[in-house]
Amino acid sequence: MEDNLELLLGLQEIDGRIDRLNREMDEIPREKRIHEREMESHREAFEREKQKSAELGRLKEQATSDREATLVRLAEFKNKLLEMKTNEAYRAMMEQIKYAEKKIGELDIRLLELMYEEETVEKVLEDARRTFERNSARTVKRSEILDSQLEEMKERMADLLEEREEVSSTIGQRLLDRYERVRGAGKGLVVVGLVNGSCGGCHTNVPPQTVVEISQGKSFPCPICGRFIIWTEGSTFAGSGR
Ligand SMILES: [Zn+2]
Repeated sequence: MEDNLELLLGLQEIDGRIDRLNREMDEIPREKRIHEREMESHREAFEREKQKSAELGRLKEQATSDREATLVRLAEFKNKLLEMKTNEAYRAMMEQIKYAEKKIGELDIRLLELMYEEETVEKVLEDARRTFERNSARTVKRSEILDSQLEEMKERMADLLEEREEVSSTIGQRLLDRYERVRGAGKGLVVVGLVNGSCGGCHTNVPPQTVVEISQGKSFPCPICGRFIIWTEGSTFAGSGR
């Protein structure tokens, strides 16, 4: 095999590793975003429960202060009752007293209901808090692992790029340019095997004489796709395909 071909194959192998590593590196921020979104949804659920609990607290406070104010008024009414001069005024004050007592009874029931509701809400809130805390601890830990994996990948990438630099510096400029052009076109492999007398990349037939030369270790640039066609273990002459 031509020396240059060995080098090109080496370069192609390194590029394959670079491509795989790049894909792995792209996965890391994607995975981090998934974990962060999940944590965010737990945080939102926790916040919603906190708001419910705060709203309930406000309602309880309101009912309690209403009850206290009504109790004060009731005491005042009872005092005034003694000062009423006419039956009519007395009856009107009694109405006020009855109304205040009824209101206190209603507020007592309301406060009891709110207390029951509070028990449920507090339990749900506690669950939401625990879920959020567990999840964020997990997310932080996972994120640290992913960050260190990414760091390690970056180091591997630097090594690979250095290795690539070394190998490509030993390849002739014209050959290298051609390689880079085909690779830059995003067609995958640049050096391909001869398959059944055709280019292993685009399946264009190779002239029989050239097939013979390829089988003797020469490379042939495919006139259609530009890939380097070489003889590999799986290579076959035209018509002798397995
Ligand atoms: Zn081709």
